Amino acid sequence: MSSYIKIKNHINGQWLDETNGQYEPLKNPSTGAVIGEVPLSSVETSRAAVAAAAEAFPEWSATPLPKRMDYIFKMQQAMKDNLEMLAEAIALDQAKHIAEARGEVGRVIEILQMACTIPALIQGETVQGIANNINGRLIKAPLGVFCGVAPFNFPALVFGWFIPFAIGTGNTFVYKPSTESPLFMQKMMQLLVDIGLPDGVVNIVHGDRESVEAWYDDDNVAGVCLVGSTPTAKAIAEGCGRSGKKTMLLGGAKNFLVAMEDAPMDLMIENILMSGYGSAGQRCLAVSNIAVVSEIYDEFVERLLEASKDVTVGDAMNPDVFMGPVISAKAKQRIENYIEIGQKEGATLALDGRNPNVGAANKDGYFVGPTVFTDVTPCMQIAREEIFGPVLSVMKVGCINGALRMIKNHEMGNGAVIFTQNSYYTEKFINEADVGMVGVNVGICAPHPYLPFGGIKGSLVGNNKVQGKDAVDFFTQNKVATVRVVDPKAGQAAPAAAGDSNVRSCVAS
Ligand code: NAD
Repeated sequence: MSSYIKIKNHINGQWLDETNGQYEPLKNPSTGAVIGEVPLSSVETSRAAVAAAAEAFPEWSATPLPKRMDYIFKMQQAMKDNLEMLAEAIALDQAKHIAEARGEVGRVIEILQMACTIPALIQGETVQGIANNINGRLIKAPLGVFCGVAPFNFPALVFGWFIPFAIGTGNTFVYKPSTESPLFMQKMMQLLVDIGLPDGVVNIVHGDRESVEAWYDDDNVAGVCLVGSTPTAKAIAEGCGRSGKKTMLLGGAKNFLVAMEDAPMDLMIENILMSGYGSAGQRCLAVSNIAVVSEIYDEFVERLLEASKDVTVGDAMNPDVFMGPVISAKAKQRIENYIEIGQKEGATLALDGRNPNVGAANKDGYFVGPTVFTDVTPCMQIAREEIFGPVLSVMKVGCINGALRMIKNHEMGNGAVIFTQNSYYTEKFINEADVGMVGVNVGICAPHPYLPFGGIKGSLVGNNKVQGKDAVDFFTQNKVATVRVVDPKAGQAAPAAAGDSNVRSCVAS
């Protein structure tokens, strides 16, 4: 993958250069080197992709369900056969550590297993005999063209959340990856071509917000889905709301971990390293606020610092380091600004991750090492805002109620986990933690693909979540048919009116 990469759009089965000639450099965050370029597509290109998807829709939606599912099975097999190639693509431009990149592709393979249950989930209902010779039927029907927008940090996962469910249920799709991590989709799209997916069923447009805004007043677009920051989710909700389009919008996060006095300490520290520093803290379920009861606060801080100091940082392709870089120079600057803000707010900077030693070959990469603040309070900016980097804020609480209050009062509501061996704490936490996803003795509470994934409050705009049965519901409409069966031999005489002749029903009788 060392040669210059020219990312292309894929519309109606064709790989296309962007005709407006506008491109953005594609960088390797581990080295800062320019490795290629990404098109910033025009409004016209974005609309052309929608037109191609709209043209493909009638034939695709009429394709028998078993045949559509064949493509999902083939998609899964293609991902299994090409796991290493796909993981390397993610490790190169998104700079997710190669071991985690393999894990992300593996998770999508599991999601595809879930998508293979669409035939069971898409079944409708029939109510026989709602009136004389009349039956009622509910059909879960596709809607047309859906468009999807991805964040930089999960290029494969978000593909898995959107595309298999959208096309498996009979819709066609236009997908806009992040310009910061377009490479996975470039490789994945070629696999979709190779398995013979018909032209126009999945189309790719690279670009910025203009490519998305082009969809708001396009009558061919039935709905738009996003995984991204909350301001972006709100902007799309507003644009789509004006034209009444369906939306599924997952926003930003700030996740809590609660350490009780009986927490299994070794397990908890190990999970915090994975959750807080994995993906360099750029996960929507990364732990960032840690509430620790006073009984174990000092021991916890000592153990966390000791373990955090041992975390190695370096090139995302280096299997011997634990953590890669953050996505861009801008992200690095933003995280470093938050470290300064934390100091000014009076938190104790117990471990400063700025300027980690990564060696000469990676000196221009965008690295921030593990960073730990202690003595943090919930109203500090570093505790309230999403830093999206490897920065942990440790706070002292008196008891579980204090921790639950902090979670309740936070604007975001994505994930929260507790470490305890006590069933009272466990049940209380599951019931009362004011978030969409809770975990017990796990660092990252990402639900398995069989279940829905999504937060509440500021972490979800609207109420549609991804994965599981919810995904099938989102990408279909509950269309209802009322059917009178007329006996061709008996003619079409109206049935005899039943009951009170002074009442005319507004429903068929
Ligand atoms: P972002 O919101 O900046 O961008 C996401 C996508 O939206 C990109 O493709 C971008 O080009 C596009 N976009 C940006 N502004 C837009 C606008 N005004 N109108 C239309 N489209 C626009 O997010 P990011 O920096 O790429 O990703 C990180 C964010 O995503 C974090 O906030 C993180 O918490 C969130 N995220 C959430 C989840 C979740 O499950 N809730 C998962 C992954 C990431």
